[in-house]
Amino acid sequence: MKKIVSFIVCAALCTGAVGAAAAEAEGKKAPIDTVFAQGPVNPYGRFFTGTSYLTMLSENDGTFNAPIGNVTFEPGARTFWHKHSGGQILLVLAGEGRYCERGQAPRVIKKGDVVRIAPNVEHWHGAGPDTWMTHISVETNVPNNQATWLEPVSDADYADK
Ligand code: MN
Repeated sequence: MKKIVSFIVCAALCTGAVGAAAAEAEGKKAPIDTVFAQGPVNPYGRFFTGTSYLTMLSENDGTFNAPIGNVTFEPGARTFWHKHSGGQILLVLAGEGRYCERGQAPRVIKKGDVVRIAPNVEHWHGAGPDTWMTHISVETNVPNNQATWLEPVSDADYADK
């Protein structure tokens, strides 16, 4: 009887572990209205701290030259420091996050905010420590707009508000 109980407990725990691993691989569903599809885990995650999700709404192509992406950040997630040679415009759709330019304190950004980032200004953007945030990213001055990725945003810099 004891063996049977052990088996049942193990089966329950193991199934739970597999379920959690599967959820991790697929990502989590944001508890906010991301407006557009949340999309898969961001394939550029190597330039981000924490987990973010990306849906391209308009791929980069020679007809429109206007790459537009929908990015959702989990609490605590943010980009590394970076800059765009052609600039970038962020349209915040949902939640509350942070935007920061080098030398300044991070500022709160919320649904409805428009952030215009001039070419070559070093900055980062992301969620709040306890809040999800979704923004659209518009890459401007394409096709001559290259992103340069720098160092991660330290926890101290992220918390400096
Ligand atoms: Mn940016």
